[in-house]
Amino acid sequence: MSDTPLLSIRDLSVRYSTDNGAVKAISDFHLAIDKGETLGLVGETGAGKTTMALSVMQLIADPPGRITGGEILFEGQDLTKTSEADMRKIRGGKIAMIFQDPMTSLNPILPVDEQVAEMIALHNKVSKEEALKRALAMLETVGIQPDRAGEYPHQFSGGMKQRVIIAIALACNPALLIADEPTTALDVTIQAQVLELMKALKKKFDTAMIMITHDLGIVAETCDRVAIMYAGRIVEEATTELLYANPKHPYTKGLFASIPNVEEERESLAVIPGLPPDPTDMPKGCPFHPRCDKAMARCSTEIPQPVVREDGHMVACFLEGGDA
Ligand code: SF4
Repeated sequence: MSDTPLLSIRDLSVRYSTDNGAVKAISDFHLAIDKGETLGLVGETGAGKTTMALSVMQLIADPPGRITGGEILFEGQDLTKTSEADMRKIRGGKIAMIFQDPMTSLNPILPVDEQVAEMIALHNKVSKEEALKRALAMLETVGIQPDRAGEYPHQFSGGMKQRVIIAIALACNPALLIADEPTTALDVTIQAQVLELMKALKKKFDTAMIMITHDLGIVAETCDRVAIMYAGRIVEEATTELLYANPKHPYTKGLFASIPNVEEERESLAVIPGLPPDPTDMPKGCPFHPRCDKAMARCSTEIPQPVVREDGHMVACFLEGGDA
């Protein structure tokens, strides 16, 4: 990591008001990403991954959601204090996001080349002709040839639509791309092709990327570093190499134990017992303690603090230090 990361999230807390009271979606959240780096953000549904992404984009609907503390520094600028007018320039310009359901992100009544050109024209002072010229070049980069660029989204397959979405996201050469489960809706072969394309493009454009996923296989393929999220907190973070070689947090170990391993013939996969906590009724202490087979008495009363080892491997668990 360099001294000044591209994005640095410190102490972020996000709350939602519900009929059952306030929900802590994210608490004491820290994360940093360097220029050109790819970080995998892994966790189960409801862990707060998408809330984190929407916080960076300043797209948390208020009400019911609200950033209640912390800062999100992007190129040194605190996005939590940035005006909506300035955020509109940053979104799609310097920070782009691919949402969970890309198939519905496209405009069904506009040819795809015009959709890419629209994004280019929005963030650059260029003529319509120049925007369209750049759009055609970008579509070609993602594998859509000029003879198909004037077609409408319904004329494309799922994988090709995803390529259009990637072209729109990268059209303005953003410094940071946030991809929220970008291949979940695709079949496995197409998924692999799209991931390869994203990897190649982020290298070509030197884009930093946050890859949000529940799939540790995708992280192994694409990410330099990985952060494991549980109940709104990062519980473990390390380089992909370190974390895969030596997962330390009991939750991370549980995630790895539940991956099918083709080389080992196992009767059944180990499944983490229990369910993630109800966000309106978070347990006291370590949020993982009701499911943790290593839990001690203090785990149900105190929250373990993150401990960073010399090699940069961070774990928030009393078994690894983590004294409150
Ligand atoms: Fe388990 Fe305690 Fe570690 Fe939490 S702090 S993961 S409950 S051992």
